[in-house]
Amino acid sequence: MKLDVNDITGTEADVVFNAPISEFNFSVDELVLKKEVQVVTRIRKINNKILIKGTIETQVDLECSRCLEHFPYSIGEDFQVVFEPFSSDIQEEEMELEKEDLDIGFYKEGIIDLTEVVREQIILAVPMIPICNEDCKGLCPYCGQNLNQCKCVCVGKTIDPRWSKLQNLVSKKTMPSRRFKEE
Ligand SMILES: [Zn+2]
Ligand SMILES: [Zn+2]
Repeated sequence: MKLDVNDITGTEADVVFNAPISEFNFSVDELVLKKEVQVVTRIRKINNKILIKGTIETQVDLECSRCLEHFPYSIGEDFQVVFEPFSSDIQEEEMELEKEDLDIGFYKEGIIDLTEVVREQIILAVPMIPICNEDCKGLCPYCGQNLNQCKCVCVGKTIDPRWSKLQNLVSKKTMPSRRFKEE
């Protein structure tokens, strides 16, 4: 996802980037991309500063926190970043600070690389607690049945005394507020 600053002849340009999944180097336990990444941008050139506003579109594979099924999640994330030419006059620490506070990137030899910015934005766009559907019923805490697929028979069922120990264990794990008497 590279852009040659010299290709922007006027003060504004619309550029669309398409990058294959492999360009982002996500490890499997980090994130699984399901589609190539498209970034639609509007680029403004102000002297040697380049302001990029854009929208990132892709799809990731997530695991529902309620039912544990995998589902495709579409990302459509807006971002804005300013690129300045890298200068050896700027102290490295200063550069890090600016980067964190203001979404500033630096480019060398006239080449802007958007890959890192886009990668970070994709990670930020992923929900902390993914849910496959607002109405997801989750798993039965007793038998583990996915309640979106069918009902189980646990509700209102008297527990066989032989299973009460197990019941106790399950309850402790999933419902810490409820207590079952131990034998
Ligand atoms: Zn679910
Ligand atoms: Zn059940």
